[in-house]
Amino acid sequence: MRMRDLGWMMAAVVALAALPGSSQAQGDTVRYTLRIDSLDLSGFEVEMRVPNAPPVLRLAMAAHPEYDERFWRYLRDLRAEAGGAAGSVTRVDSAVWEVRSAGGEVAVRYRIVLPPYERGFRPSWQPVLTAMGGLVGGLDSFLYVADQPRRPTRLDLDLPDGWTRAGIPAEGPWSTAGAAELMDAPILVGRLRTWRFRSGGASHTVAYLPSADGVPFDTAAVVRALERLAGAAREIFGSLPYSEYAFLLQDGTWGGLEHASSVTLGASSAELAKGMEDFLDNAAHEYVHTWNLVRLRPAGWSGLRQRPPPPTGERWWSEGVTIHFADLLLRRAGLAPANSRLDRLGRDLAEYLDNPGYRTISPEQASRASGASPGGPEPTDYYLHGRVVATALDFALREATGGRRGVDEMMRRMIARHSGPRGYTGADLERMASEVCGCEMRPFFARNVRAPGRLAFAPHLARMGLRMRVRRDSVTDARGTLAPDLRVWARQAEGGPVRLIITDPRSAWARAGLRADDEIVSLAGTPVDGMDSFRRTLRSLRTGQSAAVEYRRGGRTARVTVAVGGYSRLRVTFHELPGATGMQRARRAAWLAGELSGAQAGR
Ligand SMILES: [Zn+2]
Repeated sequence: MRMRDLGWMMAAVVALAALPGSSQAQGDTVRYTLRIDSLDLSGFEVEMRVPNAPPVLRLAMAAHPEYDERFWRYLRDLRAEAGGAAGSVTRVDSAVWEVRSAGGEVAVRYRIVLPPYERGFRPSWQPVLTAMGGLVGGLDSFLYVADQPRRPTRLDLDLPDGWTRAGIPAEGPWSTAGAAELMDAPILVGRLRTWRFRSGGASHTVAYLPSADGVPFDTAAVVRALERLAGAAREIFGSLPYSEYAFLLQDGTWGGLEHASSVTLGASSAELAKGMEDFLDNAAHEYVHTWNLVRLRPAGWSGLRQRPPPPTGERWWSEGVTIHFADLLLRRAGLAPANSRLDRLGRDLAEYLDNPGYRTISPEQASRASGASPGGPEPTDYYLHGRVVATALDFALREATGGRRGVDEMMRRMIARHSGPRGYTGADLERMASEVCGCEMRPFFARNVRAPGRLAFAPHLARMGLRMRVRRDSVTDARGTLAPDLRVWARQAEGGPVRLIITDPRSAWARAGLRADDEIVSLAGTPVDGMDSFRRTLRSLRTGQSAAVEYRRGGRTARVTVAVGGYSRLRVTFHELPGATGMQRARRAAWLAGELSGAQAGR
């Protein structure tokens, strides 16, 4: 159940209690059936039965606030029937349909025709079907009654023989108190492997959908690692905000998406056979979102809507601060890489100081400027910006409170006070920081969150008795030779062209005149027909080589030659501040050990 829906669910319970019996609610339930035919996996059928429907029934497909996949593009053959007569269906907006009928019980049927994906490059959150199984459900599968999203729902799944499901209860029809809860639960189906564990009073399922050409890896180690994440998360956030939770893993996919009671995660068996680091990085991030983004939600993100909400200025908190906690989570779970928190901070600061973009845009502005479409070009990376701010804030709070309270205490209080449909605003963050500090934190937010200009980190380091040294080094490979400047990336929407992502204006690619969003036609003489050919060709380039690039911009094709040279990078190291006090050293030691704030207070 979504915690943010608790408020109105309680209201619904109270309203129900006032009714004579619960037959009213039963009669109001919107009943869905999702049917998968193993002989035709190009899509799936959905039937939706709406009792007590008005003569004009508005149905809608909901947009995800971060990842609007616009799946209304793949909805086909929408038809309706009431009292034995066909209703008329009119599309009144891209994601809204009007059904006119006699009213009463209206049966609506449609098909979702799944888009094609490039092999091995499928996002783990998008609906898909293969002979092994797939992912269905959620807001890319179901329409809802636009004017009555709080009507209870019931879902029946009709699956091919031998398939099981995860993400919702394993058996029987599944009932929810409203459409929002139905829309927030993707369902992994197929020839699944599943494991279970209990942690923090809640039951957890790990479900894995293998692919036909997968390779073996240590599945027990993956399950053990997820169990340790759950244990560490309960310590950091105080409790688990669910009673049942599912980790939905798919081979051959990447990325992940958070939900109230589950998460979809890319779990490439080929990668997992080599090591778990990337997988766990992603898993920890998405899992932290269970608290910071699903439970603690930016204002305006709750509820169902047909278009993404207006941009929020708090993505630096919902993403960057999530990374801060994901790193802490991995360390406390004993799953972190061998580097220290300072190594990690040094890497972050080097990247932060090396990009001139951070001088001209604030975290709040970067958050607002970010597009709702994933993978789009970003002016600066508010993920990185957010975690630099989180560390500075943590140091400031720990110093002001003698180590008793830090950004972890701030997060726990934010969750306790601002979970729920109203969500939180930037002003709420600011007020909470002052409350946790017991001091005025407004200047910190004015300078480092709202106003453009790079955060001055040195005074914050001094609170831990540290100073930093910054120098510029050439990037070399293991043998000491100059590494090629391959600082260019690409993305591809399904069926669309491969478009460049350029984040550093000083890269050889930007200097040659290429821009973010240019459609790339060929690279070094090799036609680019997908992400695979792009990456393979890029990786084959060597320092000193010239690479011809053919690209399209504004409908015109052009060519440039990129001189692939070496490049340099900032390196940040930390040193003890002369005259560092015992208090500062103790605070630093506690922080380095990943202790929660307050752990130090008793000493
Ligand atoms: Zn995220």
